[in-house]
Amino acid sequence: MSVPAPAPPMGLIIELTHRCPLQCAYCSNPLAMDAPRSELTTDEWLDVLDQAAEIGILQVHFSGGEPMARRDLVQLVAHAAARGLYTNIITSGVLLTDAAMAALLAAGIDHIQLSFQDAHAAPADRIGGYHGGHEKKLAAARRIREAGLPLTANFVIHRQNIERVGEMIALGEELGAERMEIAHTQYYGWALLNRDALLPSAEQLAFVNGVVAQARERLNGRIAIDYVVPDYHAARPKACMGGWGNRFINISPSGKALPCHAAETLPGFTFPSVREQRLRDIWASSDAFTRFRGTDWMPEPCRACDRREIDWGGCRCQALAIAGDAAATDPACHRSPDHHLMAEAIAAAGANTVLDFVPRRLNQD
Ligand code: SF4
Ligand code: SF4
Repeated sequence: MSVPAPAPPMGLIIELTHRCPLQCAYCSNPLAMDAPRSELTTDEWLDVLDQAAEIGILQVHFSGGEPMARRDLVQLVAHAAARGLYTNIITSGVLLTDAAMAALLAAGIDHIQLSFQDAHAAPADRIGGYHGGHEKKLAAARRIREAGLPLTANFVIHRQNIERVGEMIALGEELGAERMEIAHTQYYGWALLNRDALLPSAEQLAFVNGVVAQARERLNGRIAIDYVVPDYHAARPKACMGGWGNRFINISPSGKALPCHAAETLPGFTFPSVREQRLRDIWASSDAFTRFRGTDWMPEPCRACDRREIDWGGCRCQALAIAGDAAATDPACHRSPDHHLMAEAIAAAGANTVLDFVPRRLNQD
């Protein structure tokens, strides 16, 4: 059964800029990032927010890159809040000064999600490529709490910090987070490039599973822990973005509307620009949003599978990256004919004793 005319998207993810003071080796931004001069103007983003409210979108997530690198962030948050949109900023926190916090609060920000690279400064600053970054994040977390906003602390897990997951949870508790995300790296963009230095072994994953299970039991009712396991070790894929063209629109810094942030890796697509088309039309009828929407596009074994409207066949970008075919069943699924490629990637990463990685860098052209 396919999904008929789509309900409005629930959320709009706005990648305001690919600029970022950090250089995380696990960043999921594309290798070919949008140059600063190509970014949408303030007026263009304001119009996008108006359109989002008009078509019934409920939430706006300001992301990047580092969204706080845009000088108009406060103006955009105020505009979204005035249109009745729930506003969330996904930030590294290193630019969240007292003045910025006060301005965002006055603008009506609802929520801030703060990312951490590790529990301690030295390894955090190494993987993020930003000396002093960890200390700034700790200060940012305190500012968020003092402002009375809920704090979600996001910890991205990979082979080079995995043994400190318990300390990361302790840090989240100490900072007063209401919610923590313990998220294994998702291997897109720079993370895919650096996969052999980041992908954990099955034993390492089992260790994290145990630590997270214990912490969930201990913190039950006090702090919610969202746990995202790496697809490479999974038997079944995740419902990427809640299904293709099903719940979210992601807009790149230069205005391309994408069903997910990694979709630009897919060949054969022309992604519509909000500079040229209305959000309503992009969502309802563009090829980019309808091609993998629902279930009609599915190959076997998805087509006859009773989970097809649960995980929607998994991730198209991962199918391309691993199986070489965006229309294939996600190789994370144990029923995929390409599932063995995941085990081969884990073995290749395990055989790699060199933990060097390529820092994420923006080409300023
Ligand atoms: S993952 Fe790191 S480099 Fe990428 S946008 Fe976030 S903070 Fe910046
Ligand atoms: S066969 Fe397809 S629909 Fe079924 S679990 Fe695997 S990826 Fe999901």
